[in-house]
Amino acid sequence: MEKKYEELIADLKTYLEYLKESGIEALPLSGETRRQGPSSSSHPSERLTLEEIREQLGDCRRCKLHRTRKTIVFGEGNTQATLMFVGEGPGFDEDVQGRPFVGRAGQLLTKIIQSIGLQRSEVYIANIVKCRPPQNRNPEPDEIDACHPFLVKQIEAIQPRIICALGTFAAQTLLKTSTKITALRGQVFELDGIKLIPTYHPAFLLRNPGKKREVWEDMKSILEFLRQSEEPNHPAGDDKR
Ligand code: URA
Repeated sequence: MEKKYEELIADLKTYLEYLKESGIEALPLSGETRRQGPSSSSHPSERLTLEEIREQLGDCRRCKLHRTRKTIVFGEGNTQATLMFVGEGPGFDEDVQGRPFVGRAGQLLTKIIQSIGLQRSEVYIANIVKCRPPQNRNPEPDEIDACHPFLVKQIEAIQPRIICALGTFAAQTLLKTSTKITALRGQVFELDGIKLIPTYHPAFLLRNPGKKREVWEDMKSILEFLRQSEEPNHPAGDDKR
């Protein structure tokens, strides 16, 4: 009997190593929930307010993006939001206005939020990097790494029930995986007790309007999870604050 367990554990180890080598470091949620943190390093007692996090960030020069940015785009919305959106990084309009998702992609995101009966002001919106990459190029690993601790602290401060990761960079960074967004979307992950739903980035939708239907499916899942978390006897329905 003991031998069987040993074999089982060895098989499981091999399988998990195989997944890791394939770039999969998080598994889709099914049945029992698993915990996988945005950060396991910080203890709840160290939780900062968003104001304190903004203060810590200061006039950030932790990565090279500070040289070309106009404004730090910290994030905005309901500080007690149950739903949080995480995008990639500010574009031209966001850099000028200091607010996330205010350009064309942002207008589409606002419509997506409204499609499930919410207002922008009811959710929280942030990005993987807080400064605009020059010419809207992709954020680079050192830039993502420099910014990530602040996003993790924002998530810890807000304690959303659900995070919707918008596009490749948000999904891959939050899930610590290199799996493509096309493979990640349609699945539900868990991050420190928070459901994480990856979907396509609104800018991608502007170029590929045919993909809007899949985003609509993801929004319907989000709505369903929001409803469940509001049910009085649901574990996630307990008042967290
Ligand atoms: N795209 C993003 O990923 N974030 C923004 O804030 C704007 C556009």
